[in-house]
Amino acid sequence: DAKLSDVDPEIAAVLNDELARQRNTLEMIASENFAPRSVLEAQGSVLTNKYAEGYPGRRYYGGCEHVDVAENLAIERVKALFGAEFANVQPHSGAQANAAALAALLQPGDKLMGLNLAHGGHLTHGMKLNFSGKLYEVAAYGVDEQTYRVDMDKVREQALAERPQVLIAGWSAYPRQLDFDAFRSIADEVGAYLWTDMAHFAGLVAAGLHPNPVPASDVVTSTVHKTLAGPRSGMILAKEEYGKKLNSSVFPGQQGGPLMHVIAAKAVAFRIAGSEEFRERQERVLEGARIIAERLNAPDVAEHGVSVLTGGTDVHLILVDLRHSALDGKQAEDLLHSVGITVNRNSVPFDPRPPMVTSGLRIGTPALATRGFGAKEFTEVGEIIAAALKPAPEVEALRARVTALAENFPLYPGQEEW
Ligand code: PLP
Repeated sequence: DAKLSDVDPEIAAVLNDELARQRNTLEMIASENFAPRSVLEAQGSVLTNKYAEGYPGRRYYGGCEHVDVAENLAIERVKALFGAEFANVQPHSGAQANAAALAALLQPGDKLMGLNLAHGGHLTHGMKLNFSGKLYEVAAYGVDEQTYRVDMDKVREQALAERPQVLIAGWSAYPRQLDFDAFRSIADEVGAYLWTDMAHFAGLVAAGLHPNPVPASDVVTSTVHKTLAGPRSGMILAKEEYGKKLNSSVFPGQQGGPLMHVIAAKAVAFRIAGSEEFRERQERVLEGARIIAERLNAPDVAEHGVSVLTGGTDVHLILVDLRHSALDGKQAEDLLHSVGITVNRNSVPFDPRPPMVTSGLRIGTPALATRGFGAKEFTEVGEIIAAALKPAPEVEALRARVTALAENFPLYPGQEEW
């Protein structure tokens, strides 16, 4: 059987170049992580060959006896990890998990209410070009103009006025924790389901370092590849009463054959997420984010119009506000890229610039914590970013400091070229 590099040297080169990029730069995109080799192994396995439409024990194809074991393990592990009554581990992605959750809870034309995309919400929470904005009526709450936090009194007022059928808790860019009990009581008051999308912070929840939305929510969706550090994919947790509807909403509602290789890799990731090593890693995620937020809030940075939204962070990411800086989001992203730090530009609430430019940066610590970074390294990263965002940065010198950090924490050691 021929090797990838013989069959397709062009794609082998992409893999090699991407591995080198991941090794030689500092990955600080808040939604990214490094899946461990055990996850990559399961994901790149013969399970990709298997059709298994249906659910364990109730498949529409023969020969599912082994993949059934994998899916049952994934289900049982994730239920135990988050204290959930029900789990569906088949969604191919976070967006598909969300589509299935909404299809189970709503009829087209019903109303949902989530965090405004421009204030940190996600496309699938009602953006007009997304299925969620096309199929459903959309109301959105924003963050407070002074505090940049979600104000639950205002969410309540708006929910009473809008009367949504689904209230959404969850975000893609928000540096604080949400009050799930307050969301629950508002949902009860207006007769809405509470759906929490914990895609970003699921790893922190698994580690017991963030409130768990499962008890308060009717349905919880998540990606598996962000703080959870598993394969790129999605999942749904819920109260048992929604289980049948959710299952049929995923299959046959949204998807055909499940990706059994990815489901096996999810099982591996859930096992790891229950470990002491994982908990310790998430502590470094939070510590790193706090250290960098503090550094970027210091007067020598602030005097150049750079600040940290909400003044800090309780999670794995920092939102940098560049509205008063000489740099816009795009320029800052490019500048950090030139020193070897990968982040993404991000709109800040009330951003005067368009989404392709923005006035903000989203900086996350999960990938570097997975790589082994602790307080000492995150302090150095904070110094490098602070220096880069000040006028006339010495790009070459900063790039050398990034290279030194990367070399001290080898990524996928022993992984050979393809
Ligand atoms: N939900 C939230 C809150 C997200 O941040 C994301 C990813 O950015 C998703 C859902 C979608 O996940 P995916 O990219 O796997 O479709």
